[in-house]
Amino acid sequence: MVKLHEFDKMYADANKAAEARRRYLEEETGVRLENVAKTVIDFNSVVGRNIENVIGAVQVPLGVAGPLLIKGDYANGYYYVPLATTEGALVASVNRGAKLVTESGGVRVKVLKDGMARAPVFRTETLADAVELAQWTSQHFEELKKTAESTTRFGKLKEIQPFVVGNYIWLRMVFSTGDAMGMNMVTIASEAVARYIEEKFGRAKLIALSGNMCVDKKANSVNYILGRGKTVAAEALVKREVLAKLEVTPEDVDLVNTRKNLLGSALAHSYGFNAHFANIIAAMFIATGQDAAQVVESSMGITSTEVREGGLYISIFLPSLEVGTVGGGTGLPTQREALQLLGVAGPGDPPGVNSLKLAEIVAGAVLAGELNLLVALARGELASAHKKFGRAK
Ligand code: NAP
Repeated sequence: MVKLHEFDKMYADANKAAEARRRYLEEETGVRLENVAKTVIDFNSVVGRNIENVIGAVQVPLGVAGPLLIKGDYANGYYYVPLATTEGALVASVNRGAKLVTESGGVRVKVLKDGMARAPVFRTETLADAVELAQWTSQHFEELKKTAESTTRFGKLKEIQPFVVGNYIWLRMVFSTGDAMGMNMVTIASEAVARYIEEKFGRAKLIALSGNMCVDKKANSVNYILGRGKTVAAEALVKREVLAKLEVTPEDVDLVNTRKNLLGSALAHSYGFNAHFANIIAAMFIATGQDAAQVVESSMGITSTEVREGGLYISIFLPSLEVGTVGGGTGLPTQREALQLLGVAGPGDPPGVNSLKLAEIVAGAVLAGELNLLVALARGELASAHKKFGRAK
């Protein structure tokens, strides 16, 4: 039996190995892979970094929404937001939301917290030992920080949050990670800390380096409350006269938000007290080379509205937005260009400013997309927009 993963070694060239795998699969399955073969990616630069057993690439259409006026601490100005999606009407939706927001003076954004977490779980003999370990990590924090930071130039251990259940203890280690989303970085650093604890504390055994209190790629409450990646909030005051052009009032939109996003989500016990954060997050993640599976927790959040003197006040809250501008898929040729479009490709100076800027732009785009869907629902045009943009003959 042919071992497809051995082709890289056999051919000593990832592009030739990919071609050989395709040929093998075509013969075995009778399926032609001529489109999968068409790509700008040099597989020698992604094997060992992004993919194994590579046979080609899939393509996703890329659109832009904007210009969107963002007023943040890192992102300041007009942005064209890249969105990779196959959902007809999505780009048009964010685009119209961007127009409403920009005409009203723009979206203001703040990053409230920044920290990527990994939470190994340890077994001790007794509850008393687990509690003692929690205290020990606090007393020995500087040693643990030094151990963690010996593995990376950019990762900085900020705090360790202990959680004890019987004789088990989870140590949720939170790092700043520069411009990287940081998952590999903090996993490597956490392993060094875990081994140090096993050796120096002596009465704890590492059970799993990821103990699921991190929390990665699962909907959860921990990240909601404590944050993970970037915790970001955005706000805008959408003028009454701007909404009037679409024949809706701030009261109409506020009614939809409170009944749908707040009451409906409460009834459903949803983690998403929002209309469609995941749409914008997923499309921006795919466009800019983020880890697509992290859309799960990155798109948790709340949309809040108020009717004010000048119009509709709208804000969005993203507790766990995990983004980076180095590492992962951010170096792939098309994803890199999408990041360049936003002025955030690669490492920032000082380190960290590019990922913070990207987080602010994502939050601004989320607010624009959210606003537009609420407006569309208030106008009763959700189905017709999808018929128009998603069902072209
Ligand atoms: P990474 O590419 O593994 O690490 C980032 C690298 O960039 C490090 O080598 C870092 O240096 C370097 N770097 C250069 N300039 C930097 C700057 N300005 N700021 C920060 N780092 C800089 O990326 P990662 O973000 O840690 O991990 C992302 C990857 O992890 C994705 O591919 C994702 O799919 C994957 N992932 C892994 C796990 C896991 O459990 N390991 C879980 C989920 C996702 P240093 O070496 O000095 O730090």
